[in-house]
Amino acid sequence: MIILDNISKRFRDGTKALQQVSLEVEPGEFVYLKGKSGSGKSTLLKVLFGQEKVNQGQVLVSDFMVTSLKENRIHELRRKMGFVFQDYQLLQYKTVYENIAYVLEVTNYPEDEIRSRVVDALELVGLKHKVFDFPRDCSGGEQQRIAIARAIVHDPLILLADEPTGNLDPHTGYGILKLLHKINQTGTTVIMATHDQSLVDKMPSRVIELENGYLAKDRSKDHTMLILSSRMGEQYVI
Ligand code: ADP
Ligand code: MG
Repeated sequence: MIILDNISKRFRDGTKALQQVSLEVEPGEFVYLKGKSGSGKSTLLKVLFGQEKVNQGQVLVSDFMVTSLKENRIHELRRKMGFVFQDYQLLQYKTVYENIAYVLEVTNYPEDEIRSRVVDALELVGLKHKVFDFPRDCSGGEQQRIAIARAIVHDPLILLADEPTGNLDPHTGYGILKLLHKINQTGTTVIMATHDQSLVDKMPSRVIELENGYLAKDRSKDHTMLILSSRMGEQYVI
């Protein structure tokens, strides 16, 4: 369960990245976070991940009140989440295996469990045969699959993906989209930021749209408008 209650984020230079955003995401949902560049998508994901603090409002993720969570407990929140970036962010001097195992090593999983989890994660993303390669020996689409394996290897409740197909050609991007939906089918809540409507059309699901930091639209999979606008400080259910 994710609840954002009237949150606003203003950066130090005065930029208002999020303005009075309220929304709820149920466990197991697949949500597209849409909006033009600069509309606040990445900021919203970072707020959920405990990486940016809000200036106003409350943020609840799973059983964590993120807004009042102490700095030294943020890692507990992050253990419930996985994060996938547009540019993969793999460690180039580590093998595929090491890139994924690393996440578990820092949280002291036993050696044999690390091995079996890494293999399972690679199997899920279809790259078991790449286990001892280096990222540079993999294509862009493969590198994103490795990054996804790394993001899910600890069985997170929530997977956040920030424009994960942004650097990929449409066909490869579609493969990544299908993979994220497959992960969602296993019960993981997925929130995927994108500005690409054609992806949404390929695999429809709930769409939350930001405009200049405001929540502009919230449409369910069957296109029911859940929330029209929060701009007036009110929400209309129609
Ligand atoms: P999106 O991911 O939708 O492109 P962002 O969340 O990255 O949007 O950015 C929202 C707004 O906040 C933009 O105007 C952006 O320039 C600004 N912004 C993002 N990060 C910072 C920062 N660290 N400092 C100041 N402004 C920022
Ligand atoms: Mg962004």
